[in-house]
Amino acid sequence: MLIPLAQPPRRHGATGVGQLLRAVLTVSCVAVLFGSAWAADLAETEELFRTGKYAACERAAAGEIASGADAARWWVLKGRAEAALGKYEAAGKTLDEARARFPGDLALHLLAHEMYRAGGREKEAAAALAAVERRVEARAAATPAEMVALGRHLLATGADAKDVLDRYFTPVVRKTPDHLDAHYAVAELALAKHDRALAAEALQKAPKEAHRDPRYHVLLARAFAGDDRARTAKAVADALAINPRHADALLLRADALVNAEDFAAAETALAAVLGVDPGEPRAWAVRAAVAHLRADAAGEAAARDKAFARRPDDPQVDHLIGRTLSRFYRFREGAAYQRKALEKDAKYLSAKAQLCLDLLRLGDEVEGWKLAAEVSAIDGYDVVAHNLVSLRDHLANFRTIAADGLLLRMDEKEADLYGPRALAVLRRAKRVLGEKYGVALDRPVTVEVFPRKQDFAVRTFGMPGADGYLGVCFGPVVTVSSPAAQGKDPANWEAVLWHELCHTITLHKTRNKMPRWLSEGISVYEESLENPGWGHWMTPRFREMTTGDGLTPLSKLSSVFINAKSSVEVQFAYYESALAVEFLVTRYGLDALKATLDDLGAGLPVNEALERRTGAPSAKLDGEFAAFARDRAKATAPEATWEKLDVPDAADSTAVRAWLEKHPKNFWGRQRLGAQLVREEKWAEAEAALRGLRSLYPEYVGEDNAYELLAATYRKTGKPTEEAAVLEEWAGRDGAATVAHQRLIELGEAAGDWPAAARNARRWLAVNPLTPAPHRALARAAERLKERDEAVAARRAVLRFGVPDAADVRYRLALLLEQGGQRDQARREVLRALEDAPRSREAHELLLRLAGPATPPAPEKAP
Ligand SMILES: [Zn+2]
Repeated sequence: MLIPLAQPPRRHGATGVGQLLRAVLTVSCVAVLFGSAWAADLAETEELFRTGKYAACERAAAGEIASGADAARWWVLKGRAEAALGKYEAAGKTLDEARARFPGDLALHLLAHEMYRAGGREKEAAAALAAVERRVEARAAATPAEMVALGRHLLATGADAKDVLDRYFTPVVRKTPDHLDAHYAVAELALAKHDRALAAEALQKAPKEAHRDPRYHVLLARAFAGDDRARTAKAVADALAINPRHADALLLRADALVNAEDFAAAETALAAVLGVDPGEPRAWAVRAAVAHLRADAAGEAAARDKAFARRPDDPQVDHLIGRTLSRFYRFREGAAYQRKALEKDAKYLSAKAQLCLDLLRLGDEVEGWKLAAEVSAIDGYDVVAHNLVSLRDHLANFRTIAADGLLLRMDEKEADLYGPRALAVLRRAKRVLGEKYGVALDRPVTVEVFPRKQDFAVRTFGMPGADGYLGVCFGPVVTVSSPAAQGKDPANWEAVLWHELCHTITLHKTRNKMPRWLSEGISVYEESLENPGWGHWMTPRFREMTTGDGLTPLSKLSSVFINAKSSVEVQFAYYESALAVEFLVTRYGLDALKATLDDLGAGLPVNEALERRTGAPSAKLDGEFAAFARDRAKATAPEATWEKLDVPDAADSTAVRAWLEKHPKNFWGRQRLGAQLVREEKWAEAEAALRGLRSLYPEYVGEDNAYELLAATYRKTGKPTEEAAVLEEWAGRDGAATVAHQRLIELGEAAGDWPAAARNARRWLAVNPLTPAPHRALARAAERLKERDEAVAARRAVLRFGVPDAADVRYRLALLLEQGGQRDQARREVLRALEDAPRSREAHELLLRLAGPATPPAPEKAP
């Protein structure tokens, strides 16, 4: 590619032919490798490099140089090919030669700096940079290639990234959008600062020819990593289709496979990298991390030594090992590796940022926040550091409620509304699950509840995003997304806390050495033991996946989360993992499961531990579990059939009945019939149809479930007892069915069934404590039940919303306080009530009473 020279930026000195020549020479040195207007053999040689035929590329370039080549591009190609093969000494020599020959070429010096550095020649690397500096001083940058090279140089010497972006890269992209390397430079800078959105944008704007370059696809993969696994995998595959030996692409593939705990396949990718360059330090670092995960200390040490062979002070190696371990929740070991990286280079920001995340996840907040501030001060553009620092500012306003080795941190208002309730759930979970699994936590557990989705994501992942997560447990640190962050149908937060605390227990027991499926499986399983309305139920889709080919064998569950391609598959991964735990406990006993956890803690791989503790070979366990899961699926709605419902949306009940004649047990048809009869207000027929629907598939609590429709029918036909009964059943099966809770409160109040009203107010609060209605309901019921403390708390909660009837609420609160003998507090509340409603007669009476000597409490007045 040639640079358009029509409007070169202003510069001193050179003009005309000299300028053209310099531009050509300069651009040659950056990795712009195709579309040459020069000789065909240069293009062919570039093609060899691009497609990974490095040895042939090196030979061709060397031949050309020997026969008198005069373009720096040949040296660049030769040097790059040598480096790709791990021959850094040769690459260094090639660049020595090139620099002597083309001393005015900025980019060439920079490339030399890169090669010397990777090859462990620190002194020469520094000299090459100094050479660039001298050139820079001697003349202003002008051509696009020079601008980009200069920007890269400034970055390498620690200049402000934002400044480099604005002054060097962005102007080139704007003026010469065909200059591919400028797009790469922007994307690389953005990725280094964790700004993946900008990286993706820069790559999208790159010229079409980029699609032929494996490097483009690798950068794209990195930009998608973390958000979009399918696109990442595709980009990696695209890179490898062009160049199957591309080290960066192979390393990305290995990384994904390691994450999926598919160590054997990861090893194949690593072997491919090392087949091209036997000394590639990143490949050896990943090997060391995998050896660590396999509890192979000798293998780990040997691989790490190899990783340092080329450049003994490379901070990248320990950083990579640690980062990989942290992905497996080995934060302590990960943090230790980041510290080692920082010993080699105290300024290595990637290690500092990762150490910061590790420490925050370990609950070591003092040092963690200090590092966040440090990274952000050094590098104002790093997105992770910036996010963390603003998160810390938000957290400063949180309140901490502590008890029993638990530190619960919540937004002030949320703490007032449900802090004590949340703490009670956590204390109970800690006690019940700790006893059950034989775990005594030896350090406090921090639980942080975030009303802002972004803060939750940043605290959890260092990045905004994190859609679909309700809570995350790192062991001693739990992060939870509050109902405020969840939109209009929040999940049951009590279930979330129970689930996360269960992770804390099992992670502690295994010293964080457990596969995700087992950790999730136990947490979901324990949720449903604690409350059948928590956890997951067998939906029609889960049933279909279980009876069909959606089930993953027990021995392969380690990859089930990472391989899930849709949110349904992720949900099913949770469901299946819980089913696997239930199977293990049912068939082999809780003790076998607990002993398996102990083995994991001792470093055994999960399938080995399971075989040891169940006494059954893996294949047998796989077979038994598959049978267990299928039996469960078959026992769910056993009579129902599942043909696709084939009637128009607008069909009336007669049409649906006609279809059902041919499919009498079809669940979808019966569901539609029940819903349609309710719509047509044919109550007697609706009741019969819906009772049938309920007994066909009693577990179904999804949209248009029999309970909801039946309750509507009973409501319309004036059968409150029956209505309450079906709603109770629904609420028992679905912990987040707030529609049922609300109606049950009304029915309970109307019938004077105050225990039912209180129970359902509490259930509603377990889903959404952020509206006054459930607090009001609880206050009313608790007053009747003489649960004074609960009533006081509920009245106070109502006041927290700034309700228009605050005076009345305060008056009632004052009455409760008076009854409890808290006369001073009662007086305060009644005085405040009178501020808002100075003419309230009953408030004046109460005030008079409170002013006089203590008398037996007055009987409560009716509202
Ligand atoms: Zn979980």
